[in-house]
Amino acid sequence: MSVSAFPLRKRVVLLGATGSIGQNTLRVLAAHRDQLELVGIAAHSQWEKLAVIAREFGVRHVGLFNDTACAAAAAHPEAFLPGTHFVSGVAGLAELAQLPEADIVLVAVVGTAGLEPALAALAAGKDLALASKEILVLAGKFILEAAHLHGAKLLPVDSEHNAVFQCLQGHSHSTVRRVTLTASGGAFRDWPAERLAHVTPADALKHPNWSMGPKITVDSATLANKGLELIEAQCLFGLRPEQCAAVLHPQSIVHALVEFNDGAILAQLCPPSMTFPIQHALLHPARAPGVDAPLDFTKLLSLEFRPIDEARFPMLRLARETMNAGGAAPAIYNAANEIAVAAFLAGGIPFLAIPRVVEQTLARIANFEPSDLDAVLTLDTEARRVAAREIENLKSTT
Ligand code: NAD
Ligand code: MG
Repeated sequence: MSVSAFPLRKRVVLLGATGSIGQNTLRVLAAHRDQLELVGIAAHSQWEKLAVIAREFGVRHVGLFNDTACAAAAAHPEAFLPGTHFVSGVAGLAELAQLPEADIVLVAVVGTAGLEPALAALAAGKDLALASKEILVLAGKFILEAAHLHGAKLLPVDSEHNAVFQCLQGHSHSTVRRVTLTASGGAFRDWPAERLAHVTPADALKHPNWSMGPKITVDSATLANKGLELIEAQCLFGLRPEQCAAVLHPQSIVHALVEFNDGAILAQLCPPSMTFPIQHALLHPARAPGVDAPLDFTKLLSLEFRPIDEARFPMLRLARETMNAGGAAPAIYNAANEIAVAAFLAGGIPFLAIPRVVEQTLARIANFEPSDLDAVLTLDTEARRVAAREIENLKSTT
């Protein structure tokens, strides 16, 4: 057995390695090979991309959610390192999340497919670096319980929550008055309301500050992203709905502000690149030089903050309503949004129909307090079915 040149490296499993967060994580890992070692990777179906990553980082545990893609990868052993172990499906991802040699699992799977692997990681006592906000909105209570039960750390990767996490270090949560998340405002920040009716998927995919996957880019344009993030903050930091606020900040340099009961406000600043929060989460509690250049105050830098017009962004109002309602409402909001965004991206519904589908789905399902994870998952399936039906109704009446 070879002895590692870096015996104290943290060993990382990365789920969602081919996506936008995944690629930024690889940049962090490449820059800190002395402190971080990649031991497992997974994606939905792009096995050739995983093969490149596996060879570059010396990874021998490879997961593909899609069975056919996994079979294709296994049929090309020459593309991978000798002795590579392939797994597929959600069970395969959960197996990767529990690899005995792993210390920390970064879940950056879009949507809710990362829930089971995230819970598996926590059950095995692994620390969880979490980018997938949807799974916190769906089942945050159960994720927090699992982390607590198994003594595992939950490290937020979403930039705003990572910022809050950093601002809270050394402070008692009971002294927090309010947490304010910043929002860039997305692709339509400065568009008049009447133009929003004719928005195309191509328009919605042009984000002014961040380069991200398609689903979250549309979520940024509707501000559903901020809605999901308010729910995420409420859950992660144990806040009441009225303690969670959002403010428009076009520069995306201040990521969150934490106000304490004495009126002092702490903020976290860094350029709009996900490498900063990813690196913080993976190295925590250590720090090291960043991958991207830090802010340069010798150059002109202006920071602007404006209130958000919730009338123009109904997804934010709906998120707030679900936070107040509690129970299953946030999970319904999340599921209906995912279905509506997919329909919009496929050209099936107009942009302004996204909040309508979500509002109607919320109205059609009676709220309740899910008692266990099965109840949450059943609800998620039901909400998706109801949202799909709402979309069909909408198509037949237009
Ligand atoms: P993306 O669309 O670029 O990538 C998604 C990744 O998930 C890909 O690697 C894909 O292969 C994988 N994937 C999809 N379905 C899967 C499945 N069933 N099983 C296994 N893997 C699957 O998305 P992204 O922008 O990287 O976002 C990922 C997550 O991180 C989302 O939940 C998003 O909300 C969150 N997030 C992203 C950003 C960002 O800057 N991109 C910022 C904060 C939070
Ligand atoms: Mg964010």
